[in-house]
Amino acid sequence: MDTSTDPEHQNAINCLRLTLPEMQKHHIPATPQNYAVWYEYFMKTTNELNQTIDDLIDTEQQFSNAINKSLYEKYISDRPVKVMESVQDATKILVNRLMDKLNLMKKETKQFSGVLGNCENILVDDIDSDTISKLVSTLIDESSKVQESNSAMELTLSDMENELGTLRKDIEKLNAIALVDQLTNIGNRRSFDESMQTLIDRHKIGCTDNEHEDAIETFSALICDIDLFKTFNDTHGHATGDRVLSYVAKCLKRCIRGEDGAYRYGGEEFVLALPETNLKGGLAVAENIRSYIANKKLTAKEGKQVLGRITVSIGVAEVRPGDTVESLIDRADQAMYRAKANGRNCVMVESPSNATLQ
Ligand code: GH3
Ligand code: MG
Ligand code: MG
Repeated sequence: MDTSTDPEHQNAINCLRLTLPEMQKHHIPATPQNYAVWYEYFMKTTNELNQTIDDLIDTEQQFSNAINKSLYEKYISDRPVKVMESVQDATKILVNRLMDKLNLMKKETKQFSGVLGNCENILVDDIDSDTISKLVSTLIDESSKVQESNSAMELTLSDMENELGTLRKDIEKLNAIALVDQLTNIGNRRSFDESMQTLIDRHKIGCTDNEHEDAIETFSALICDIDLFKTFNDTHGHATGDRVLSYVAKCLKRCIRGEDGAYRYGGEEFVLALPETNLKGGLAVAENIRSYIANKKLTAKEGKQVLGRITVSIGVAEVRPGDTVESLIDRADQAMYRAKANGRNCVMVESPSNATLQ
């Protein structure tokens, strides 16, 4: 769908054009998070954000990393990632339109060169009088000049095209960054939502046409919550807690296969999506994760201080016909809560039998 003429997108493109220069003016690093804050500022959708930024500018305060981080956390991070998405959409449209324009200009300059070249040939053949001869020389000179400038122009255009190609790659990188949880380096909530929806759609296709190339027969979702993590933080400090979150993410990745996905769902909760894995398979993966984590002794980096063990509780659910992301996750969540009620360090499945493994 061509959205380039949509006023909403035009507005988004205008805001996008203003964002980077203003960030540069205030010496703000061009991270996706800062970008989202400033884009939102120009979109003027949150009065409070605009007021806060205007006050900071008026009082000539520096946009330190701490201030940038707090702006992002307060006004952007807990909202749906719509802001980031519209920044990306607008950038994509801008780049595509520029590319189209460049291609058109290139075509036109090439045609112009061709016409001049033809004229030159005809006139060079017709040299029976001095006047015509002079005209011909002038035309030859002029046409060579135009051709020279055309070649220079083509070079410039091709440089610009390269730059735009790089910009397009940067946007792709930005897209990728927007899907990664910064602390644990695994997929974030947005990435989870997108992947899960894709699996639901692929399962739907599989229900009616299992020969289709996107079809999958089934998949399972696991919710994995660290046990008593608040106590762990209280005992060892938040920074050590953060390192444990990264460690758990690594354990999850180690325990799954290539096409499986591991995501940070929020706080100390993780989710796993396992394509072509039924409840029994999901249970086996969950139990493997549980025992892998429970059997490792943790030590602090510095001083080798023993931190003890951490454990996780996991709920497992398999997709059912008609499921949405929410309904499937809800069942996995409920199973996880039963695992907690069952004493933690435990796996529970959604089936009515609620089989427990320890
Ligand atoms: P339960 O076994 O019932 O899950 O107990 P819990 O203490 O893990 O659960 P609770 O929901 O009471 O507390 C979750 C804790 O996770 C509280 C919070 O300090 C910690 N937490 C959430 N996000 C982060 C984070 O990004 N870093 C750190 N270090 N801790 C976090
Ligand atoms: Mg917990
Ligand atoms: Mg929790």
